[in-house]
Amino acid sequence: MKMLLDGQWVDRDEKIDVIDPFDNSVIDTVPSGNADDCETALKSAVKGFEITKKMTVYDRAQILFKAAAIISERLEEFATIIAREGSKTINEARTEASRCVNTMTASAEESKRILGETIPFDSFPGGEKRRGYYYRFPIGVVLAITPFNDPLNLVAHKIGPAFAAGNAVILKPATVTPLSAIKLVEAMVEAGMPPQAIQVITGYGSKIGDPMVSDERVRMISFTGGVEAGKHIASKAGIKKIGMELGSNSPVIVWKDADLDLAVDSCVSGSFWAAGQNCIGVQRLLVHKDIYNEFKTRFVERTKKYKIGDKMKEDTDMGPMITEGEAIRVEKWVNEAAQKGANVLCGGKRTGSLYEPTVLENLPPDVTIHCEEVFGPTVNLYQIDDLDEAIKEANSLPYGLLAGIFTSNIDVAFKASYDLDCGGVMINDSTDYRLDSMPFGGVKYSGLGREGLKFSLQELTEPKVVCFYLPNI
Ligand code: NAD
Repeated sequence: MKMLLDGQWVDRDEKIDVIDPFDNSVIDTVPSGNADDCETALKSAVKGFEITKKMTVYDRAQILFKAAAIISERLEEFATIIAREGSKTINEARTEASRCVNTMTASAEESKRILGETIPFDSFPGGEKRRGYYYRFPIGVVLAITPFNDPLNLVAHKIGPAFAAGNAVILKPATVTPLSAIKLVEAMVEAGMPPQAIQVITGYGSKIGDPMVSDERVRMISFTGGVEAGKHIASKAGIKKIGMELGSNSPVIVWKDADLDLAVDSCVSGSFWAAGQNCIGVQRLLVHKDIYNEFKTRFVERTKKYKIGDKMKEDTDMGPMITEGEAIRVEKWVNEAAQKGANVLCGGKRTGSLYEPTVLENLPPDVTIHCEEVFGPTVNLYQIDDLDEAIKEANSLPYGLLAGIFTSNIDVAFKASYDLDCGGVMINDSTDYRLDSMPFGGVKYSGLGREGLKFSLQELTEPKVVCFYLPNI
């Protein structure tokens, strides 16, 4: 596939192979963008913004609705690309493709609700005879940088609201999974998005990141990815807006009165969805001591039934990790925990990029797999005695995206929802739940700002005040 710069689909001699991590076959190539390509994208996006900012809301919404319809018609094609270039099974990929339709549709709908307010200027002395309001205007050129694990829908969460607000976008998709993103951009252009308003530049973040991140023509960086890249980007950005959706180490509390069938099913799925490469995947299960053994037995039994392997087979529950290198990293983290005293209750074996769904307990507090985001198919069990202890443990790490609690006691649910430090608390569900239009984001190292269409639109626009001084009234 090619990249889209200044309205042209272009290739380069230097290319990057896009590899199916299940069998290491090369499924396609993309050009490796360079500094000159960044300059072309930046110049063209500035012109693109001159077009988008003058478009009516109606026209922008119609294009987004049409793009949603195109994706909907070609859902299986999109799902197949997601599954081939990434880690997801074909069923997981279908879910993502359907969610992308929702994201584009809701972007179109929300474009019609970018509202302002009148301002009561006479609410303090000095404001007499002044009347006015504020409205929201688009911010300009938005640089969108996306990760590999949701290669379509997380790109839709950047392009959809950015264009809905009237901005131009330069998209830098994940180096390993650029194809779904390019297909989405093709759909946007087919639907009528002015080509200069959307540039897609493929390549290595380390090579093309800095020239774009530090450029003053970029007015906002909308980044989804890991904390390390996030810190680097923040250090290079200079004075511009930054939105960051980063990683986590998500905790779920299973209280003594939980519905265990529900908790087991939901947490197994939440731990191993997309082979655990999921920013809201369950990593820590804090289980009340009265039900710990029963929960553990059922959880491990259910995990052992997981069918792993070929992503394209309908009955596969879990596919490979994104690269063999990532699977080796997870293997090392599990081995480190086991050597320091953790019990590996099931899993713990690797074949190439496939890593078995793995359940650990008795983790020493200093092991990497307890402290850091694992981003792989492993989950840690901890026994807890009381709610304060569970909440303290849940809040003890420098992340806070989502948290969960299973309980039938409303007081327990309420207390947890207030005391857990994070961007959202799921009651009687694992952390692996996101509605695309809810405010989504985290605290601490999990991010800055919120996405979720209506909320993204606040970040992607600025209020402008208009004040009339009317001395003669
Ligand atoms: P990553 O940080 O390695 O890469 C993300 C993107 O940043 C890629 O496009 C990459 O090429 C680019 N990049 C890397 N270095 C860069 C640089 N110096 N300048 C500019 N761009 C650069 O992340 P990943 O491995 O693709 O994705 C996994 C991470 O993303 C996990 O930490 C996960 O939790 C996080 N994530 C967060 C959310 C969320 O909404 N909070 C959603 C999905 C994934």
